[in-house]
Amino acid sequence: MTRHILITGASRGIGRAAAIECGKRGWSVGVNYAGNEKAAAETVKAVEAAGGKAIAIKGDVSVESDVIAMFDASEKAFGPLNGVVNNAGIVAPASKVADMSVERLTRMFAVNVTGAFLVAREAARRMGTDRGHAGGSLVNISSVASRLGSPNEYVDYAGSKGAVDVMTIGLSKELAPAGIRVNAIRPGLIDTEIHASGGDPGRAFRLAVNVPMARPGRAEEIADAILWLLSDQSSYVTGALIDVSGGR
Ligand code: NAP
Repeated sequence: MTRHILITGASRGIGRAAAIECGKRGWSVGVNYAGNEKAAAETVKAVEAAGGKAIAIKGDVSVESDVIAMFDASEKAFGPLNGVVNNAGIVAPASKVADMSVERLTRMFAVNVTGAFLVAREAARRMGTDRGHAGGSLVNISSVASRLGSPNEYVDYAGSKGAVDVMTIGLSKELAPAGIRVNAIRPGLIDTEIHASGGDPGRAFRLAVNVPMARPGRAEEIADAILWLLSDQSSYVTGALIDVSGGR
């Protein structure tokens, strides 16, 4: 069955890998990005080359009007949504909580928590059978940081992902009667540009010594888990927090 999936933060990293996997199945993808237009255009090309359809949609998940507009744009292009991947997220440079500015904390929670909630809210409004839609699957991208706590690096980030975990548990119960399954993937150390954005490009490989499988994961390995949660293969799975972390 052809599906329409909106993926936030799909211009790079895990979101891009998930978009390409959707393309391989012939699905249509709304490719949201924050500012990197070139990377978003490359994702769109890659989805099309894989056999799917895609459009790039600029928007900041922490801005309510942007989130509404990105859902509108994706539905205008491809019709009703079957799934949403709530993936956009940020880190900040390693810091102790004692040294964190209020500006940093405000941005971290605006993108990773308020943004995730706004995207989840739109998914509920636009896929729920209680509002006349067909139901669907919402996949939240959390992190193993939510159970490790990320001391001396980014406890703020870990806390934001804790909120995503709890939102997943609550919303899965709230939306089960509306035909929407809500699950989270908690990636471990994955080789993407997010580490460079936190000022430490070598982080995933450096810390891989602490991973039982002794290597960072690839974005494609997270995408495989996302695609399972989007598919009917996971039809009885909701409220799950699935660690994809090489045992970390
Ligand atoms: P990434 O390579 O840094 O890519 C981030 C993506 O999010 C980009 O597409 C970026 O768009 C977009 N983005 C950033 N801020 C945004 C905003 N305010 N609104 C909309 N889009 C925004 O990150 P990644 O490693 O793929 O991470 C994806 C998710 O996985 C995040 O939620 C992250 O916390 C989680 N995660 C990652 C790891 C890891 O080790 N990589 C581990 C655990 C969890 P632009 O290209 O336009 O900047």
